[in-house]
Amino acid sequence: MNHSEKKRLIELDHAHAWHPFTPMRQWRQNEPLIIESAEGDHLIDADGNRYIDGVSSLWCNIHGHRVPTLDNAVRDQLDRVAHTTMLGMSNVPATDLAARLAALAPGKLNKVFFSDAGATATELAFKMAVGYWFHRGQQRNTLIAIEGAYHGDTVGSMSVGYSATFHKPFDPLVFTVTHATAPDLFHSPDFTPDPNAPRRQWAAEHDDHVARVREDALTDLDRCLTAAAGKVAAVIVEPVVQGAAGIIIHPPGYLAAVAGLCKKHDTLLIADEVATGFGRTGRMFACELEDVHPDILCLGKGITGGYLPLAATLATDEIEDAFTGELHEHRTLYHGHTYTGNPLAAAVALASLDLFEQNDLLTRTRQTADWVAQQLDALRDRDRYPYVADVRQRGLMIGIELVPPGQTGATGFDPSRRLGYDIADACRARGVIVRPLGNVVVLMPPLAIDENNLKQLVETVVSEIEHLGRS
Ligand code: PLP
Repeated sequence: MNHSEKKRLIELDHAHAWHPFTPMRQWRQNEPLIIESAEGDHLIDADGNRYIDGVSSLWCNIHGHRVPTLDNAVRDQLDRVAHTTMLGMSNVPATDLAARLAALAPGKLNKVFFSDAGATATELAFKMAVGYWFHRGQQRNTLIAIEGAYHGDTVGSMSVGYSATFHKPFDPLVFTVTHATAPDLFHSPDFTPDPNAPRRQWAAEHDDHVARVREDALTDLDRCLTAAAGKVAAVIVEPVVQGAAGIIIHPPGYLAAVAGLCKKHDTLLIADEVATGFGRTGRMFACELEDVHPDILCLGKGITGGYLPLAATLATDEIEDAFTGELHEHRTLYHGHTYTGNPLAAAVALASLDLFEQNDLLTRTRQTADWVAQQLDALRDRDRYPYVADVRQRGLMIGIELVPPGQTGATGFDPSRRLGYDIADACRARGVIVRPLGNVVVLMPPLAIDENNLKQLVETVVSEIEHLGRS
C-alpha cells in the first residue's frame, strides 16, 4: 500500500472508527496498526510488515489465515447463496452443522440455536434457562455465575459478568446476579509462595492449596444455591478456564463438582465454551476434561475456524420441549437474529470441523501445548525473570502473570504500571502480536500454528519478559 493510501486510512480510522475496549483519546495519539492481508499464522500490515498472530485474532483463529480448504468452502457457498433467513425456512449448511454440533457436543445436547456472537449465545442461554422453568410453572429468575466471569457485552451477559470498574454507567440496566467465589489459585488471599525459594513454584502446584481453594469455592457455590433454593434458573461457568478473568485455570475436579451441585439442587448448568470450545484446551470441548454434560452449551469464536461471525447455543431435547405446545399457549421461544444460521458461516464451520479430523488437530494441539509448557518452564528462574509471578496453561490457553518483584499478586499493585501492554508493544516491534489482560500476558496462537512460528512467538515473549525492568 502506498504512503498516501495508508495516510488516508489512518485519518478515516481516527475520524470514524470506534474500537472495542479501547480508550479512544489515547488511541488517536498513535498511528493504528492497519492489517491489509494475512497468510498462515501471519498478519500483514499496510507497510508489508508481518506479525505472528499470537492471539488468534482474539482467540478465534484455529487453522491459520487464508487456508485454501476454508477459503474454498466460503467461495463454493457464495456460488449458491450468501445469506437466507432461518425464520420460516432452513438452509443446507446450517442444517448439516446443527446435526454435526449435536453429535460432537458433550452429553445429549440435541438442539442447536444459531446466533452470531459469543454474547448472543450466552444471552440466549439465560433466556432458555429462565423460559424453561417458566414453562414448567416455576418462577426461577436467579442466575449464579462465578466471580470474575466474562460472558460478553450485551446487557444480560454484562449483568452476569458484572464488573464495577467497567459497567458503572449501566448500573440501572443490569439485573442482579449471584456471584459465587471463583476457585482462583493465584489471587486467593492465602496463597503466599515462598519469596526466597530458588525455583518458583506456580500456584497450581501446591497440592494443599489447590484442594483448599477448590473446596472453599464449592462450599460457597453450595451456600449460594441453598440460599436461593427453588429460584435458581441456572449456574453458568466457563469450564476449566476463565479466560477474560486472566486465564484462571480451575483446580481439577471443580467443574465436575459444580455439575454435581447443580444436580443436587435441581438446577441447570450452562457451560460457556465460547473461548474454550473447538480444541483450545486440547479437547474439542473443555467439559470433556471432566466428563461433564451441561444442560446448555454456548459456542462461538472458533466455531468457524475464526473466519466468520457465528455462534450457537445448544440445549437438551427436554429444554426445547418446554418451549413447545399449542399455538395459543405461546410457549414459542420468541427470539432470533437476522443472520441466524448464515450459510456462509455455517459452510466454513463445517469445513473447519473437517480439518480438525483430517489434520488430527486435537492430538497436535496437545503436543504443541506440551512443547510450550516445557519452554515456559524457563520462567521459573527467579533471578532471570523476577517479574514472573505465575504461569497458567491449559492446552493453548496461556497466561503469564507479571508482578513487580517484592509485591504479591493477591494484594495487587500500581495499575498505572502497564506491564502487560509494555510487553505487547515490545513484541509487536519484533513482529509478534499478543494482547494482555491487565498484567497477564496471554498467548493464544492458532491451534495449527507452524513450529517455527510458535518458536518465534514464545522466544520473543520470553525474551521481552526477561528485559522487563532492565531497560
Ligand atoms: N463468553 C466467553 C467465555 C468469552 O471469552 C467471550 C469473549 O471473549 C464471550 C462470551 C463473548 O464473545 P463475543 O465477543 O463473540 O460476544
